[in-house]
Amino acid sequence: MSRRSFLHKAVTGVAGVAGVAGSAALPQGAFAAKGPSVRWRLTSSFPKSLDAIWGVGPRMAERVLELTDGKFEIRAFAAGEIVPGLQVLDAVQNGTVECGHTASYYYVGKNTAFAFETTLPFGLTARQHNAWYYFGGGQQLTREFLKNYNIINFPGGNTGTQMGGWWRSEIKSVRDLQGMKIRIPGFGGRIMAALGAVPQTIPGGDIYPALEKGTIDAAEWVGPYDDEKLGFHKVAKYYYYPGFWEPGASLSYYVNQAAWASLPKQYQTAFEVAAAEAAMRMNAEYDAKNPPALARLIRAGAQLRLYPRDVLEAAYAEAEKIYAQERQNNPDFKKFFDSWNVFRHDQSNWFRVAENALSSFIPRTK
Ligand code: CA
Repeated sequence: MSRRSFLHKAVTGVAGVAGVAGSAALPQGAFAAKGPSVRWRLTSSFPKSLDAIWGVGPRMAERVLELTDGKFEIRAFAAGEIVPGLQVLDAVQNGTVECGHTASYYYVGKNTAFAFETTLPFGLTARQHNAWYYFGGGQQLTREFLKNYNIINFPGGNTGTQMGGWWRSEIKSVRDLQGMKIRIPGFGGRIMAALGAVPQTIPGGDIYPALEKGTIDAAEWVGPYDDEKLGFHKVAKYYYYPGFWEPGASLSYYVNQAAWASLPKQYQTAFEVAAAEAAMRMNAEYDAKNPPALARLIRAGAQLRLYPRDVLEAAYAEAEKIYAQERQNNPDFKKFFDSWNVFRHDQSNWFRVAENALSSFIPRTK
């Protein structure tokens, strides 16, 4: 669809929502022309160097501006420009900014139930997450939960299944994890600790020197496209997969509820449409850019390795233990888990039948 026809459809669609008769005959932007000028700020959890993720904020803003005939302007700021990357929730909650682009699981320190909006170990892939969010109760559960923080959320892109990190030495069984220092945050870190490794939390920019000096033995980041830019293959050549702790990290737009309620309905729709489009494009961008990045990394010396079966099995068992504990200790976690868990098993059963059977049959090419 051309950009023009997309805009036309979006604008006439918006008019339809507003219940105005004869909207198709009106020129583009006729409603926005009468609308108020609104200026918002979006604070991102991400630096501009993570261009595929960071880009979701400004892209959404650009489309909102177009859809509202220039009336609704959102300025996007990278991590640290207004608040640090991990304070997006607070900044949106208290109204420092009207909206943000973040990953919910950054806030598991406040409540472990925050993880469900992003990803959990051995959980949903990007497509499965979308299925849960839109058709499996995910939207309702996350929105109900975020009301406690004065926030309404929208899906904000997905990295796809992440890689399992860069190791300086090979991992041939669970025993090889003993005492290994690995940069890995969140639930993945809890699992690694249970398996005998020593998880570390290190910001992106500090990982390379730590790996180079050997103060850590391994580090996980995202996937080939982002990892290549940080150059990990030069200092830790074993590139493991899959990143079982992040089967599909879904990002979020957070919007302050009072700010949202103050928007004309048409601007809300523009935001929702633009947010969905930018999110979909991010998934597509990673899927397009990861394969050539992986090929370059392998040419540069990276050694691709599948995590041994016993590591995956032990990690799965630890994940189940963590979920059982969380269900017991946190009623919010239990509420999410009981919906999500049934859904994930149904999804795995289905994807195994057609999609995975086909993709694992098609021969690999060099
Ligand atoms: Ca990661």
